[in-house]
Amino acid sequence: MAVVQVAGLVKHYGAVKAVDGASLTVAAGEIYALLGLNGAGKTTTIRTLLGMIRPTAGSVRLFGTPVTADARSLWGRVGYLVETPAAYPELTVTENLTLMARLKHLPAAAVGNVVEQLGLRPYAARRARELSLGNQQRLALAKALLGRPELLVLDEPANGLDPAGVTEIRQLLKTLAAQGTTILLSSHILAEVAKLATRIGIIHAGRMVTEIAAADLPHHVARALRVRCHDQDTAARILRQGGYQPLSNLDGMLSMTDERAVWHPDEVATLLVESGCPPVHLAVAEEDLETLFLRLTARGAGA
Ligand code: ATP
Repeated sequence: MAVVQVAGLVKHYGAVKAVDGASLTVAAGEIYALLGLNGAGKTTTIRTLLGMIRPTAGSVRLFGTPVTADARSLWGRVGYLVETPAAYPELTVTENLTLMARLKHLPAAAVGNVVEQLGLRPYAARRARELSLGNQQRLALAKALLGRPELLVLDEPANGLDPAGVTEIRQLLKTLAAQGTTILLSSHILAEVAKLATRIGIIHAGRMVTEIAAADLPHHVARALRVRCHDQDTAARILRQGGYQPLSNLDGMLSMTDERAVWHPDEVATLLVESGCPPVHLAVAEEDLETLFLRLTARGAGA
């Protein structure tokens, strides 16, 4: 059974179409990343599926149960972190977590567990307002993790964390997922979610542009074979005669995006050598993930 089911979700604020027909499904144990630029509709989608916003149209189900204002039974199964982490500034880390544990009807021992998990032990007695941005984020994540919820919904969980913190949290989330926790998170960095998510849903202007299994990501990356020879004009002629479609790049390279060139660069090298025009440079260049992301979202916008 799907843990999260969002179907035809629409949320309009007057003329602003924050979400404009988004659908997604997250199965148990998946790490699903909602990826989009600023203003794409990630937070609105997340707030709607947590019952914080009433949708204009469409439906949201968690564990098969429709999310409504009175769906109380659901919230004990869900841990979440949405937008600016809010903690009581004058209370310590432990006090903030103890308060949250009480609200969730959890034993006090649960606090120690999340303090350890998030590496907050050295800061346990520190007031929330004295924490660095990264440690405020850790405290917010600790709150979400209290009581080992079956579903974690995390809006930009990497916010404010330094690179070591990002790696650590990624590892923690992977471990939780391997133990059966379902995770839905949002991000605007493809390179980051590519290392974490099992599935990536790209949202742009309130619409789901595409969903990609993380394992399939390499197939979406555009590649080009870049070649330089001493005589580029002769090389281009030889390549065209060989059935390739070389283009001259601004940097003086010849580049080919034909499948045959990209996947069999050795054949291109052999052709050039045998034609008396050996390459001095020949390499397959891969699009970086940020470029891929921008290309996918531009396609979604109809550009
Ligand atoms: P970010 O990464 O910047 O947080 P996001 O993908 O989470 O972006 P949302 O916060 O969901 O995007 O916003 C989607 C759109 O809806 C934006 O254009 C935003 O300005 C608009 N919006 C969000 N909340 C409201 C609101 N309460 N009233 C009016 N417009 C809103």
